[in-house]
Amino acid sequence: MTLRTRFAPSPTGLLHVGNAYSALRCQQWAARHHGELLLRIEDIDTSRCRPEYSEAIIADLSWLGLTWQGPVRRQSEHMQDYTEALGQLRDMGVIYPCFCTRSDIRREIERMASAPHAGEQGHYPGTCRHLAEERQRERMWQESYAWRLDAGKAMAIAGPVLSWQDGHGRHHPVHVGSDVVIGRKDIGFSYHLAAVVDDALQGITHVIRGQDLAESTGIHRLLQALLGLPTPVYIHHELLLDTGGKRLAKRNRATTLRGLRQAGISASALRNYLLSASPLWPFDDAMDAASALALGRTG
Ligand code: GLU
Repeated sequence: MTLRTRFAPSPTGLLHVGNAYSALRCQQWAARHHGELLLRIEDIDTSRCRPEYSEAIIADLSWLGLTWQGPVRRQSEHMQDYTEALGQLRDMGVIYPCFCTRSDIRREIERMASAPHAGEQGHYPGTCRHLAEERQRERMWQESYAWRLDAGKAMAIAGPVLSWQDGHGRHHPVHVGSDVVIGRKDIGFSYHLAAVVDDALQGITHVIRGQDLAESTGIHRLLQALLGLPTPVYIHHELLLDTGGKRLAKRNRATTLRGLRQAGISASALRNYLLSASPLWPFDDAMDAASALALGRTG
């Protein structure tokens, strides 16, 4: 069996060193295991993703020295695949239309929190879960809606022994305690559904991605069980941290590959730094980063 992983950026901005770190971890894994690395552009969110960022990401990854097998899969070109998977879940009766707005949900959570037997806080309170079918149909004509997973029902169908496996062969039990959105109001489906469908279609055996996505893995495993899809091994790597010890999220000249490249950093120095040092990006200035990496002054 061919071992295969993927790097799956969302083109909502320029690639930053945190993304580069993740891409390099995928590449390193593929090289070590004689596996393949695929590139997928996760651009279903048309309000935030832009084609020019997709092109910039591909150019920046090539500059960094990343190579991938086969054509790039762009999710926006495969919306039908996700619509079909949503239809399958709908036929199984494990998703339901949710008409709530953000403020409806906030108000309901506040109301429940002040009730004597307050439930789990911050989760969707289940307002639309048990609407009568007729009422659902009526409202679907008149209002916009999202599709939510009925987590309790889905977990009951998937069975109590559901787990996902990490890179050390350890099994992690799945517990999805909230009715997550599977079909967004604006675009029809969610990242979770598209990622799961694509991982299966692309024959991904190992998903390597940041620790920040570890919470999504249980949801993905549950969707795989419901849709009858194979399940990859999941490896969550630590995140690159900024000077404040926080997850690197800012996009500025000192963190985007574009900015660093313009400041004169070489791709090999950046690669070596990201893969050898502990994952920290202690630079607030692109020129400082360029000169520190050129001199190997990074300790
Ligand atoms: N597109 C996601 C991101 O950029 C990554 C999804 C994944 O690796 O599953 O955060």
